[in-house]
Amino acid sequence: MPNKPLTKSKPNAQLTELPSLGLSADALALDTRRHFTYTLGQDKSSQSAHYTYTALALAVRDRLMERWKNTNYAYDGAGCKRAYYLSMEFLMGRALGNAVLNLGITDSAGLALKTLGLEMEEVVESESDAGLGNGGLGRLAACFVDSCATLKLPVTGYGIRYEYGMFRQSVEDGQQVEEPDHWLRNGHVWELERPELTIRVRFGGHTDNYGENGRTRWVNTQDVLAVPYDVPIPGYQNGTVNTLRLWKAAATDEFGLNEFNAGDYTASVRSKNQAENITMVLYPNDASENGKELRLRQQYFLASASLQDVVRKWVHTHGEDFSGFAEKNCFQLNDTHPSIAVAELMRLLIDEHGLGWDAAWAITSKTMAYTNHTLLPEALERWSVRLFRQLLPRLLEIIFEINARFLAEVASRWPGDLDRLGRMSLIEEGYEQQVRMAYLAIVGSFSVNGVAELHSDLLKQGLFRDFYEMWPHKFNNKTNGITPRRWLASCNPGLSALITEAIGTGWTTDLGQLGKLAKYADDKAFREQWRKIKRANKERLIQYKQAEVGIVINPDAMFDTQVKRMHEYKRQLLNVLHVIHLYDRIKRGDEGDWTPRCVIFGGKAAPGYVMAKRIIKLINNVANVVNHDAKVGDKLKLAFLPNYRVSAMEIICPGTDLSEQISTAGKEASGTGNMKFMLNGALTIGTLDGANIEIREEVGAENFFLFGLTAEEVERTRDRYDPWSIIEANEDLRRVMQLLESGHFNQFEPGIFEPIIQSVRGAWDPWMTAADFGSYVDAQKRAAAAYRDPEHWTRMSILNCAASGKFSTDRTIGEYNRDIWKLTPVDALPLG
Ligand SMILES: *Cc1c(COP(=O)(O)O)cnc(C)c1O
Repeated sequence: MPNKPLTKSKPNAQLTELPSLGLSADALALDTRRHFTYTLGQDKSSQSAHYTYTALALAVRDRLMERWKNTNYAYDGAGCKRAYYLSMEFLMGRALGNAVLNLGITDSAGLALKTLGLEMEEVVESESDAGLGNGGLGRLAACFVDSCATLKLPVTGYGIRYEYGMFRQSVEDGQQVEEPDHWLRNGHVWELERPELTIRVRFGGHTDNYGENGRTRWVNTQDVLAVPYDVPIPGYQNGTVNTLRLWKAAATDEFGLNEFNAGDYTASVRSKNQAENITMVLYPNDASENGKELRLRQQYFLASASLQDVVRKWVHTHGEDFSGFAEKNCFQLNDTHPSIAVAELMRLLIDEHGLGWDAAWAITSKTMAYTNHTLLPEALERWSVRLFRQLLPRLLEIIFEINARFLAEVASRWPGDLDRLGRMSLIEEGYEQQVRMAYLAIVGSFSVNGVAELHSDLLKQGLFRDFYEMWPHKFNNKTNGITPRRWLASCNPGLSALITEAIGTGWTTDLGQLGKLAKYADDKAFREQWRKIKRANKERLIQYKQAEVGIVINPDAMFDTQVKRMHEYKRQLLNVLHVIHLYDRIKRGDEGDWTPRCVIFGGKAAPGYVMAKRIIKLINNVANVVNHDAKVGDKLKLAFLPNYRVSAMEIICPGTDLSEQISTAGKEASGTGNMKFMLNGALTIGTLDGANIEIREEVGAENFFLFGLTAEEVERTRDRYDPWSIIEANEDLRRVMQLLESGHFNQFEPGIFEPIIQSVRGAWDPWMTAADFGSYVDAQKRAAAAYRDPEHWTRMSILNCAASGKFSTDRTIGEYNRDIWKLTPVDALPLG
């Protein structure tokens, strides 16, 4: 029994008495050797680079461990309010480089490796990315926990320990091929299993009234165990180490007992596997839901295990008195995915802890806060009532009760407005009744936020208008950000050193200080150094990717990059159409004032998203033609980089000149890739969408390549959108469509791009690609012209970096804390 406490003696105090560990290169080298030899059992015949990585990682982990303990002591001792970030995704990437940076031991760890005959750059490559997320939403959660720890805020991340993370992408014949990502295969040194904190989560069964007061219990359930795995989250050089708690599903001992007793051993193992299936795989859909039962199981599993964990801890210190619970606890729901938490907290308080409805609701609705991440209707969870009844019958009853009380409130506010009742109901009527999970999140939360100014405004005007009318005070904006530790200090050491030399080290925790760089834009020698570093980062990107892509790239070309999930709303297609246009210009001899360009794409398509996969195929086919045409030569290169992920972006964003942020206005909630590029001195070509608007405001219109319809214009033009006339009227686009339609890029694959052609020509095209083509080409011309003047371009590059201070998650988290969580920072106890 892992949770059996010691009874005869209490040696824990003595057991934990240790001198603190040294941070010098010698101390790290010694511990790396120890772990290599004793923990991992390696000797001088050891061949695998993986063991060296693991040995160093363990030595670093030891240093985190003592700070982790002292952080927890400090939080417990302060009895402070805490917040919990509930997210189905944490796209963490690699941990080693970040851990040494945040511990302040980058140099000594590098030296330690040198004394062992190794190079850091090589060793870090042995770590697999923790790819427990799809894209922006999961990466935001990862940046958030970094900032929370850096700000010394008592915030715990709660997520799922998927056995298989985001699939690995390769490209065969220009097509995406998916392979499972068994990221735990070589072990994961950054996690600690905590079996003694296991929690039971229920599914199925039915409800039953009992006792005098008609209390409800949920019986005959099929239970699944949630086992926590804790991952340390170090703050930046501040002694704080917070916790990311990831849940793994395990079968209970009684699971499959019926089958076992009936003599069917195989069936009993099968049902055990079914329980453990819950955390087997991350759903690879970005910004869309496909309504699968297992996904609802995952969502409830996360919400229930996390809430029970917090409630258990509460009862442990406060007993059954929940009167102070809301003052001490806050749950931030990362998108609609974990919104079942609203009903689950009600269930725990009422069924398990005996509170009345009103008391439970007062606590729940003061404890939950909801972040919306998208306006795309296909991304909002709706679960069929039938499925809900079968899987979570008690939760469905609670949702019905919440809805009845909520609709009574609506009816008393707007008497006789039946339309409004129908619109706002948590239950959508129709052929099959559906639970609208986003509405549950809004009704149950005291705060509802969007992730960029435009997005938050559009939520109030559109998707959640009725709710905004009812509760304007709940709605607020929290513009996203990125952590400057990973996305500049760690991924771009060259630029970081130059910046620090110019303005000091303060920027790593106060990114607004980058503003001090603006004056260096006018310093010729500084510009020269800036350009040198960008050039070296481009070389690094070529080195890193050359082999995969198999083409020769000129580092003096403008590196024009679009990396992000493949999605029609992000309009990779518009970018390819521009590449075809450039190719067409070269072919027809229109090459005056040419700027050599290397256009880089990267991104995964959801395996079931046929159109997104076809666009990958188009990129690769166009690349095949363009890259092998002697007349094109160095003027234009096109590369699709397979398996885009966090560790790839760490190489890509420092080596990019032009950042493509070209979504249809009103569709990209915020974007965070845009911020990583800006911070690393890329210029943006973009629409007035998401955080692009705020980026342009910060850097000034003259340092941003703007094009395209505004969100308002998109909505106004939609009804009379006529792509055929647009194509007819624009010679460039007409020629591009002719090339596509003539099969120029698919000579031996007839018809494969027909769906893409139809989508551009279709009046129903929701992304209105043709509408923005002309102004996009113009903006690209301006970008190309600007790039031909290196001094001017470098100036703009410096000004972009200098203006990116707003986009630190330190600022974002500061606002979450000021407006929503209201936590007090707590210093970790000093090391003994
Ligand atoms: C930052 C990041 C994203 C988000 O990019 P957007 O351009 O904002 O969609 C997605 N995936 C990875 C790996 C990232 O690092």
